[in-house]
Amino acid sequence: MGLMTVVIPSYNEESNIERAAEVIGGVLKDASIDYELMFVSDGSKDKTFAIVKELSEKDPHVKGIQFSRNFGKESAIFAGLEVAKGDCVAVIDCDLQHPPATLVEMYRLWEDGYEVIEGIKSSRGKESIFHKMFVGIFYGIMSKLMKMDMNATSDFKLMDRKVVDALLSLTEKNTFFRALSFWTGFRSTSVSFDVQERVAGESKWSFMGLVKYAISNTTSFTTVPLQIVTVIGFLMMIFSVVVGIQTLVNFFMGVAVEGFTTVILLLLVIGGCIMISLGIIGHYLARIYEEVKGRPRYIISERTKGV
Ligand code: UDP
Ligand code: MG
Repeated sequence: MGLMTVVIPSYNEESNIERAAEVIGGVLKDASIDYELMFVSDGSKDKTFAIVKELSEKDPHVKGIQFSRNFGKESAIFAGLEVAKGDCVAVIDCDLQHPPATLVEMYRLWEDGYEVIEGIKSSRGKESIFHKMFVGIFYGIMSKLMKMDMNATSDFKLMDRKVVDALLSLTEKNTFFRALSFWTGFRSTSVSFDVQERVAGESKWSFMGLVKYAISNTTSFTTVPLQIVTVIGFLMMIFSVVVGIQTLVNFFMGVAVEGFTTVILLLLVIGGCIMISLGIIGHYLARIYEEVKGRPRYIISERTKGV
């Protein structure tokens, strides 16, 4: 037995808050689990936080914080972890795409002694073909880079207090929660769930948002792209030696004027490689710059009672 904090990141979810509180609270009450619901309103501009405040006055289980502006889901999750009082902490989406009944299953596993319980998507639910394709490519690359299957992972998890404290002790600001909980180690297991349809409102991801998410997560979690630069450089060197020998041979055989093709090709290839490499290095530099500045990950502007 122990208190479970359910962290619920919510960004402009006024149409979902009440239902989420009711459904999630109901499921946990029925299972006689001691719980608190921690809504983290990620700088919502609609009535999201007003509704949370209203609910919190009626029901002491409901709590919430509001960010001063939109800081992104990742920050919302970490803010939730920070203010959570539970002996275990779960993270679940506000739109009920993660089935709340699975929380009970996760809680039982936690009682059995597991410290990280990952929610694994057994199906991805309804998504546009374009979205599926992009997500497919992103997770394909990520899985290779991180040496774990990322396609089925989600932010839906339950963690023991120990794991939460370990995550909070990380000093980095650019995080990738989904992979980090796995990275911490501990006794972990998983439960699979079917992604449900969003009950109301719209997905908050724009295409550019996803691209940024993909790039920043990759660079904040792994330095493999920097090593790729080295590999490309090495391949280029071999290529140059071969072409260099050929050029010299041509020169000594007196047929050197035809070399324009080679020159153009070399310029293109080398130029391309250098630009990609600089881009990757620049991206990591930006990351380092952000970390060095040491700005807070989020700013809380309001809290409900008891937070
Ligand atoms: N969310 C958030 N901050 C953001 C974007 C989303 O806290 O900047 C929350 C959102 O309210 C929801 C969850 O993250 O509870 C998942 O978002 P969404 O349903 O839009 O993503 P999808 O399910 O389409 O991946
Ligand atoms: Mg959703």
